[in-house]
Amino acid sequence: MSERNEKLFDVIICGGGPAGSTCALALADSGLKVAVIEKQKFPRDKVCGDAIAAYVHKVLNTINPKFKDALSEFKEKVMVDTCRIVAPNANAFDITFSQSGFISTRVSWDNFLYELASVQNNITYFLNHAVTEVIIDSTKCETIVQTEHTSFKGKIVIGCDGAHSIINKKIVGTKPDLNHYSGAVRAYYKNVTGIPDRTFELHFIKGLSPGYFWIFPLKDNLANVGLGALSASISKQKLNLRKIFEDAIHNVSYLKERFKDAEQIGQLEGFGLPLGSRKVVMSGDNFMLCGDAASLIDPLSGEGIGQAMVSGRYAGWQAKKCFDQNNFTGTFMKQYDKLVYDKFWARHRKNYLIQQMIGKREWLLNGVVNLTSRNRFIKDLLMRALN
Ligand SMILES: Cc1cc2nc3c(=O)[nH]c(=O)nc-3n(C[C@H](O)[C@H](O)[C@H](O)COP(=O)(O)OP(=O)(O)OC[C@H]3O[C@@H](n4cnc5c(N)ncnc54)[C@H](O)[C@@H]3O)c2cc1C
Repeated sequence: MSERNEKLFDVIICGGGPAGSTCALALADSGLKVAVIEKQKFPRDKVCGDAIAAYVHKVLNTINPKFKDALSEFKEKVMVDTCRIVAPNANAFDITFSQSGFISTRVSWDNFLYELASVQNNITYFLNHAVTEVIIDSTKCETIVQTEHTSFKGKIVIGCDGAHSIINKKIVGTKPDLNHYSGAVRAYYKNVTGIPDRTFELHFIKGLSPGYFWIFPLKDNLANVGLGALSASISKQKLNLRKIFEDAIHNVSYLKERFKDAEQIGQLEGFGLPLGSRKVVMSGDNFMLCGDAASLIDPLSGEGIGQAMVSGRYAGWQAKKCFDQNNFTGTFMKQYDKLVYDKFWARHRKNYLIQQMIGKREWLLNGVVNLTSRNRFIKDLLMRALN
């Protein structure tokens, strides 16, 4: 057997997506030696809707204003501030937000974060390194992360390795729960017609509930088009998401017109979404989990990039505190869980209730959209609640 190469670090981050790279950025200039172990190389894709929350500017700014300035220079994005909601009966209304989010392919966005983090002096990325094993010895205050040929030794491991997290599997073993998990598929299209300016569209189509079909505008006349639904419904109703997708763009009357001359670019691809509508174990002696590895996706909208970045930032800051106070215990690490849940839990639970309510009552969604599109007062109320 060949000898393993051994490397010593203070903090070992597994996964270099939005959670991992933001966590690394939060540790830039910390004086700590940080490894980011990533199984792919950049630029790389990740199946996603590519919609990025307005607040990520703030996340980067609170880490270092120069990172927010870098985002202002990042050109691979289409700004959006309006959400068009289309009910199953095809009635629609628009909600305009006070701040703009943006749509950017994950190839570009994740590469942007990687380029920002990988030039920091104390951060080293190990690309094409898939983590296979993690061992925590809290009595020695030591974590060992293994890839095929290398062992990384440190005091803290941070699992930012996504929905199928090996770190979660090896340390915590969160059991998937179909009531708190979604499945989704997406493809890129050129020349979809009728895309309104600065607007992302959510279509609640018949037979897909709770869930929705989306059209998100990208640069160069491209659009990210997809649909997703709660896994419990997919399983119970035996939903075939690929079939429903094809049916939507070819047979739903108001959509098929818009896809008549559209060209699919690449494959229709699917992936899972671990939802933040239940609490899971996110930390313990010498470890933390962030982003999808900690089930932090909004159960109504399916957004998880912002949550991944916020949790990555908190985990980075918590890791620094652990070293400052020489305390790596699970009890101390709970400060991290508290920050994350204080930020997201109330919103995720509220959105879970809405998801459950509209999921079971298509007529309710039709009614709300009818009323909102006709009644200025109700629309204003809704916009104030969502802004
Ligand atoms: C179809 C779909 C549509 C979505 N649409 C949106 C949307 O529009 N907006 C939004 O905000 N969110 C959306 N999401 C959710 C979003 O994609 C995730 O919440 C987000 O990617 C989480 O970021 P992360 O950094 O936690 O994980 P990831 O982005 O999954 O990054 C994990 C990283 O870890 C690496 N990795 C995995 N295993 C290993 C290993 N063993 N060793 C080393 N590295 C490893 C991976 O290569 C990857 O780079 C969508 C999800 C899906 C499936």
